[in-house]
Amino acid sequence: MLQLDLKTTVFLASIMSALMSVVLLSAYRSFPRGIRGIGEWVAGSLVLVVAPTLFWLRDIAPDWVSIVLGNGLLLAAVALWTLGTQVFYGRPQARAPAAVVVVLATLALTWFVYGHESYDARVTIVTLVMGLFFGTQALLVLRHGGRDFSARFFGFLLTVQTLVVLARCVASLFSGLAGQKLFASDDLIQAIYLGSYTLMDLGLSVAFMLVITRRLHVELDILSRTDPLTQLLNRRALYDAGQRELEHMAGHGGEMALLLIDLDHFKHINDSMGHAEGDRVLTDFSAMLKRELPAGAYPGRFGGEEFLVLLPRTTPAAALALAERLRATSSRFFGKRVTDLTISIGVASVDKAERRLDGAVGRADLALYRAKSAGRNRVESVMEAAA
Ligand code: GH3
Ligand code: MG
Ligand code: MG
Repeated sequence: MLQLDLKTTVFLASIMSALMSVVLLSAYRSFPRGIRGIGEWVAGSLVLVVAPTLFWLRDIAPDWVSIVLGNGLLLAAVALWTLGTQVFYGRPQARAPAAVVVVLATLALTWFVYGHESYDARVTIVTLVMGLFFGTQALLVLRHGGRDFSARFFGFLLTVQTLVVLARCVASLFSGLAGQKLFASDDLIQAIYLGSYTLMDLGLSVAFMLVITRRLHVELDILSRTDPLTQLLNRRALYDAGQRELEHMAGHGGEMALLLIDLDHFKHINDSMGHAEGDRVLTDFSAMLKRELPAGAYPGRFGGEEFLVLLPRTTPAAALALAERLRATSSRFFGKRVTDLTISIGVASVDKAERRLDGAVGRADLALYRAKSAGRNRVESVMEAAA
């Protein structure tokens, strides 16, 4: 049968937790503050460096240190992890309930050491509370974690850990199933429980790092595709989306149109009202654009005060009608705050044979130039690729 020296196992848990705290701490220090929850995870791991040491001192240190404080810290660590997981996934942190549970459990542990000594009752309390915290996290990750590998791995570990502690809890309710000593090496249930406890610490720290790194990757990806002022797509993201839509058209057929929008005499806004007000006009216009466009459209900032909108699955006639509506809406929109600000729009359609966006963007630019030359506040189009 598997023979674990359980004292060594618990000692290893302490060392692993120390090492993983270093890893998490470096993530905490270097990752953006926008990724929340890492601090709570570090704190939990640091507490778990201390707790096993106290267990180790059983029969050497007084019971209130080894049993009460050791288990209290263990529960506090898992509570901290739970708070970290909650805030990492954008949920409210249940701080007060978590603290109440930990304090009540610690008081109950004290009673079952000094009032009415019972090893089984203590195991029941500790495993039940751990099951509560791990179960809460498992549900949260399964529900809000998404489908990528890191979240699934995290959710899987939390589920396994929940089941293990609850199994130990059930065993404690039936005296005789499990032994009566913490470090009884011939006790299989206790060996699985303590062994999993050691692995859990390592496994969950790895899972924390995986989900944090994944989050960082997603956030950087969004940043690299977003225009910081208007929060619309930037030019690179527009071209990527355009390329994807072109490939889709090549496989499935269909149509696509482009709108190139330029604010008229925008320089005048900057000159007369200041650059900051100019920025505000750009962000307000962008928000209006998002509101007015149909689902499936890609609005982006092409540069300065110029915007490009990709309209997949849109006929030239529908694109022209939409452009006209945008022009009319804009003059109403700007009329309220900046008199005389209007927009000009160049419309182009993408030819089925085209494999790149450049040709159509060039035609939209030509159409825009015509709209400007013809006096601004107009929609013009160049539909044929030959043009
Ligand atoms: P037209 O009708 O011919 O388009 O005239 P215009 O004044 O809009 O065009 P022009 O290209 O002469 O000037 C564009 C101005 O847009 C100049 C530039 O300072 C301003 N601009 C570009 N980007 C920003 C920005 O991010 N914030 C602000 N406030 N102004 C910007
Ligand atoms: Mg302009
Ligand atoms: Mg311009």
